[in-house]
Amino acid sequence: MPELPEVETVVCTLRPHVVGEKIKSVQLLRPDIVVPSETDLAAHLTGRSITAIHRRGKRIVFTLDNANGFYIHLGMTGRLTIETRDSPVTRHTHLILNLAGAQIRFTDPRRFGGIWWLGTRCTGDDRMGPEPLTLKPAQLAAALAKTRRAVKSALLDQTLIAGLGNIYVDEALFGAQIHPLARSDRLKAAQVGALLRAIKRVLRKAINHRGSTLRDYRDAAGNSGSFQDLHRVYDRKGQPCRVCRTAIERIVLGGRSTHFCPKCQRPSAHKAL
Ligand SMILES: [Zn+2]
Repeated sequence: MPELPEVETVVCTLRPHVVGEKIKSVQLLRPDIVVPSETDLAAHLTGRSITAIHRRGKRIVFTLDNANGFYIHLGMTGRLTIETRDSPVTRHTHLILNLAGAQIRFTDPRRFGGIWWLGTRCTGDDRMGPEPLTLKPAQLAAALAKTRRAVKSALLDQTLIAGLGNIYVDEALFGAQIHPLARSDRLKAAQVGALLRAIKRVLRKAINHRGSTLRDYRDAAGNSGSFQDLHRVYDRKGQPCRVCRTAIERIVLGGRSTHFCPKCQRPSAHKAL
């Protein structure tokens, strides 16, 4: 699933092609991917210019010249790409925005993603926690102190902190040497500090490598990321830890696969369980 680094990469590769461009026409091939369902998306978008595009959490937020906005969430398998007018339309293409020279296309085979019309609430900010790259240790400490959940589950909660998903939470917990089942409200200040540093480090590094491509993810130009080659725990079950050579373990937590090194992330090391 695309997380913060992948969505950031999509936005960066899309931006030079779309900002200042007028939406000449709209082809909505799957109207049921628009929320709210009664939205006349074509009427809202046709003839408007795109003045800005930015990432908020895992959302790709578009701002229009009349100060209205909408956002696209890529879900599990979504792609937002720039295509030429004559490139064949693939299956599962749900939306095509015709610009002067090119097209923006949204495809999503599994349809966990979608298009949310925001109107004038154009920040797309509702019920979302702060951005991790600008988060302060005291903010993270306060958010984690409020919950008894496992730290892995808490970090996946978009209302606590925005943009993290399964890959980067596992990688950050490894970087901070914290067990994924450690209770959030029992982490010490030093651990929270180490965790935030690890989160920022892994996200920045992943953005520099244009995200992780495990299966579906591509940027707006259709290119894969390369950060998957540098994963230290995610999707490495049974392989040797890159630090201590112990086999990486995989457990399922809240329905999500969770990878960790049982030696580097020993619960007894911090008595947080
Ligand atoms: Zn290890």
